[in-house]
Amino acid sequence: MFTCAPVLSSILADSAHVVPPGTTVGVSGCRPEPYYPTMTTPQQGTLTFDIAVLPGDGIGVDVTREAVRVLEALPFDGVKFAFHEFSVGAGEYQRSGNPLPADALDACARADAVLLGAMGLPTVRWPDGKEMTPQLDLREKFELYCGLRPIRLYHGHDTPLKRYGRSGGFPAAECAESGSDLKAGRLESRPSETIDFVIVRESTEGLFSARLSRSDPAKGEACDVMRITRSGAERVCRAAFQQAMKRRKHCTLVDKANVLPSMVFFRSVFDSVAKEFPEVKTDRVYVDAAALYLVQRPHTFDVLVTENMFGDILSDLAAGLVGGMGMAPSADIGDGCAVFQPSHGSAPDIAGKGIANPIATILSAALMLEWLDHPETVKAAQRIHRAVEGVLANPADRTPDLGGTLTTTQMADKIIKAL
Ligand code: ATP
Repeated sequence: MFTCAPVLSSILADSAHVVPPGTTVGVSGCRPEPYYPTMTTPQQGTLTFDIAVLPGDGIGVDVTREAVRVLEALPFDGVKFAFHEFSVGAGEYQRSGNPLPADALDACARADAVLLGAMGLPTVRWPDGKEMTPQLDLREKFELYCGLRPIRLYHGHDTPLKRYGRSGGFPAAECAESGSDLKAGRLESRPSETIDFVIVRESTEGLFSARLSRSDPAKGEACDVMRITRSGAERVCRAAFQQAMKRRKHCTLVDKANVLPSMVFFRSVFDSVAKEFPEVKTDRVYVDAAALYLVQRPHTFDVLVTENMFGDILSDLAAGLVGGMGMAPSADIGDGCAVFQPSHGSAPDIAGKGIANPIATILSAALMLEWLDHPETVKAAQRIHRAVEGVLANPADRTPDLGGTLTTTQMADKIIKAL
């Protein structure tokens, strides 16, 4: 059950989570050490994690409710969660004129983690015609530079690719071509029929940095700038390599270095960060080719790192490989704050129908548990993954986006039962 937003000072009274500026951290993992020991409530010997919950708009409200139910159903020993809900997004703009009120922003800054549904509605716009995107404001304000988009196929039933997730596999020889190891599929260290990779999307600059600029129609042209800074590129590449070190030690840079000077620069930064991680095998792929390879042979990818806009596009494509937006979790991680949300938006076409797939948000909550990095929360995250896998093992248990008939709540009930 949600705790309705109380006064901020009381919300955060027992949380001592303060991250010193400039702290260097890993990813998921991308957080300071030591961390949770400062949060012990001495009287109870219990750690309380304060979670700011921002359901937002459209299906964000439904799926966030279910993710919180899952978190509340998990057994924890010596750990508890305090959920503090805030109204944000297009609906809040209609109510108060501000889609991201200061109290919500303040709570996000001080909470241990933020769980977000989805924000924005196509029918609610700023006077200049743009949609509300407070989630982008959050990324930029808190420098949530590392957009982590794990893509995993839980069951062959849910992919449009005929040779994945089913018995028989996808022999590496079939995708052999001349050229790089990636092209030949030789980098695969897991069974070839699996899809299991992470897109690391730079989330504070790149082509999105132009989003607040104004164009003058009278000039007869409009222009967006792809902004890549050395520090921005370095930190996201480093985060990607840290991910690779925890996974199959393979990192692919996705760029457009054959055309854009900004991408030549991005590649040079990637190359120099790569030297810090000699164990990690690297590839460099142009974004157009990456789109092709992701469809043809997704099993050859482990970690992909790219700029903001390319990451935005490729993560929707990648979600499509494993069942669609309802199956794609994400985390936006900075050095002092982290926001966990599904990759999807508010999906106005299905809002209010109770049929949204809650799995992306439930898996985002699992990412949050991993990031909190307490033995109990890490164990709980694994429990969620196993429960989702267990439920999806039966092809009849699906929401309508995956061809089934379960409602949002029925799907969450099944996952809770399987925990
Ligand atoms: P945004 O730009 O805000 O990310 P979007 O325009 O990409 O949003 P989404 O809201 O992500 O659009 O929806 C894209 C499509 O995916 C829609 O058809 C929507 O109904 C579907 N969809 C998104 N999320 C879910 C979900 N959780 N369950 C079922 N279908 C979903």
